[in-house]
Amino acid sequence: MACSHRAVLIVTCSVQGTSSNLAKRRVDLRCGKPAGHDGPHSDAEHGESWEDRGCELTHVLRHEDGD
Ligand SMILES: [Zn+2]
Repeated sequence: MACSHRAVLIVTCSVQGTSSNLAKRRVDLRCGKPAGHDGPHSDAEHGESWEDRGCELTHVLRHEDGD
């Protein structure tokens, strides 16, 4: 039985000339570890891991600059 904890990774970037950030990418993550595992959840397919904050759906924010 898999953990199947879910998270949403939101990648933001700066908008040139302003101080605001723009969400440029949104990735749905699903933990592929066994149920009841130790440590952070991990999505091997997307190469991302996240801490369990005790909520059903965790939002993971990451900032990327430039292209
Ligand atoms: Zn998990």
